[in-house]
Amino acid sequence: MLKLKPLVPATFQQFANAKVSTSQLWEAIRTRGVKVECQCLLWFPLHIPKHSLIAWMVIFNRLPTRDRLLAFGISIDTCCFFCMDAAEKCDHIFFECSFSRKVWQSILCLCSIYRAVRTCRQELWIQRNKRYFGASFLTEDAVLVQD
Ligand SMILES: [Zn+2]
Repeated sequence: MLKLKPLVPATFQQFANAKVSTSQLWEAIRTRGVKVECQCLLWFPLHIPKHSLIAWMVIFNRLPTRDRLLAFGISIDTCCFFCMDAAEKCDHIFFECSFSRKVWQSILCLCSIYRAVRTCRQELWIQRNKRYFGASFLTEDAVLVQD
């Protein structure tokens, strides 16, 4: 223990002789980032932690996908495990892969939304461009029921 004392960062020196709680230590060492506006969609009472965590990692592109592992210097085949036809990237796994499109299509059907996933993405892009260029655009509900 005495050998480690010189290695204690200056941050902890202020607590050397004080009674400190873990929350005080946490506040001393944590870095605060910009608050993410969509956090309430993922982190809410009764959320399923693993679902929220994966969604969070997808949003910030932090899943250890093969393209990211390759970028970290890990020699690995980047081919998608589902379709074996494209590089495994976060967007590909969740939105572009033929396997994923079928899953999303089934989810849409379970929700009684009978539109192709591709059509939904195209419509979102169209609606995005309408907003960007100041044209009239549809509400979220109108996009879902649109033929
Ligand atoms: Zn794929």
